[in-house]
Amino acid sequence: MIWLIGWKTIIKRLWAGLHTCRRCLGHHPHDLQERTEWGTLFFVPLVPLRRERILTCSYCGLETRLSKAETGQFMEMAGPPDLRY
Ligand SMILES: [Zn+2]
Repeated sequence: MIWLIGWKTIIKRLWAGLHTCRRCLGHHPHDLQERTEWGTLFFVPLVPLRRERILTCSYCGLETRLSKAETGQFMEMAGPPDLRY
């Protein structure tokens, strides 16, 4: 029997909206994503291997990695997502 083992990255959008960028200092649309790398068996994601939350400025492309606690604080401070962005 052949075991098909691999990995797959699943990206989940957690938040989007206007935020002040730390690099370009503008108030531009940002996107907060949770990227989870899964271990797969027969193409079915079974085990989460790595998870990171990244806030990206759509203007300059600055990516900021946030911890789970920082993500909670950010989403509380930033308010509800505005998915127009
Ligand atoms: Zn920026």
